[in-house]
Amino acid sequence: MITQGKKRAERSWLGEVSAVVLQQSLRDLEGAYRAFFDSRSGKRKDPRAGPPSFKSLKDRRQSVRFTANARWKITGKGLLSLPKIGDIPVRWSRTLPAVPSTVTVIKDASGRFFASFVIETDPQADADRWPVEDVSGREVGLDMGLNHFAVLSTGEKIASPRFLRRAEKKLRKLQRGHARKQKGSKNKEKSRRALARQHAKVADARHHFHHEWSSRLVREHQAIYAETLNVQGMARGNLAKSIHDAGWSSFLAMLEYKAARYGRVFQQVGRFFPSSQRCSVCHRIDGPKPLHVRTWTCEGCGTVHDRDTNAADNTRQEGRRLHTLNQQLKVAEGHHGDPKRLRSDEKTKDRRSRHDAKKQEAKESRPENRAA
Ligand SMILES: [Zn+2]
Repeated sequence: MITQGKKRAERSWLGEVSAVVLQQSLRDLEGAYRAFFDSRSGKRKDPRAGPPSFKSLKDRRQSVRFTANARWKITGKGLLSLPKIGDIPVRWSRTLPAVPSTVTVIKDASGRFFASFVIETDPQADADRWPVEDVSGREVGLDMGLNHFAVLSTGEKIASPRFLRRAEKKLRKLQRGHARKQKGSKNKEKSRRALARQHAKVADARHHFHHEWSSRLVREHQAIYAETLNVQGMARGNLAKSIHDAGWSSFLAMLEYKAARYGRVFQQVGRFFPSSQRCSVCHRIDGPKPLHVRTWTCEGCGTVHDRDTNAADNTRQEGRRLHTLNQQLKVAEGHHGDPKRLRSDEKTKDRRSRHDAKKQEAKESRPENRAA
């Protein structure tokens, strides 16, 4: 198909790139169609896949992937040698721990080029890179804050760094300016580029910040418990909030893979869990509190609570409970003869609790309870 296509004048540009890249694109398309059809016939469970779609014209990110048989290489001088393109100088952000199999070259919306490598990792080697620290019994709960990036059950509050806040402020300003420029004008194109550059800057800074904190939290604790996102809240269209939420989900993803890599426990806790209403000491549920209430005294045991720290500690306790439950289920499945049945029981229970969760979530996302 590719060979035929190349012969036609209007498709002659296909000959300008490595054939392996084109074959890979077709293979990706095939994979996408298979996922879609398997999804429809019920052969594929989760996640459900829709039909493949074309790339958006508005998406200015472009990428090309070279697999092992595309005969690309890193030269002795540290140049990236790509078929039909040539040797490209690279500013290496880190040394590669192993020989990569695949490289993806990405051009982002602000016109910068990146090379991203696929590398097989060795979990033991990863674990060995970290100094041994005794973290047994050290657990932490995390609550997503509005005024802070996150609040820990230990009482520590992680503020967004000032450079990030400043960059975000500048981003909002550029966004307003861009919206005022006339469509199709030179100024619009100019402001689009400035905006894309600032977007990239903010994304990089945030990414770096997330890496730093996720590493530290995983390194210092045996178990990390965090609340999941309020997806309903995200759909609400509050821009600042949705940026914040998007940041949180990428941060959670980092915690998850780092915890797995270093043998730590990572457990997420649903948002329906009344983390801001329950006293973390005596577990009395005090009812919803308006957002401006930052500290409160429990009527049951008299403990004075910081709203966020109390919520984070509730998350820690609930996270541990869920994790213990999951472990017990696993053990039960291993010992009893009929794992199928147990699994189906578990499923119905799960579905029911998800239903309750939805109801609860709807309640919790009423304006006065937001950020609960
Ligand atoms: Zn209490």
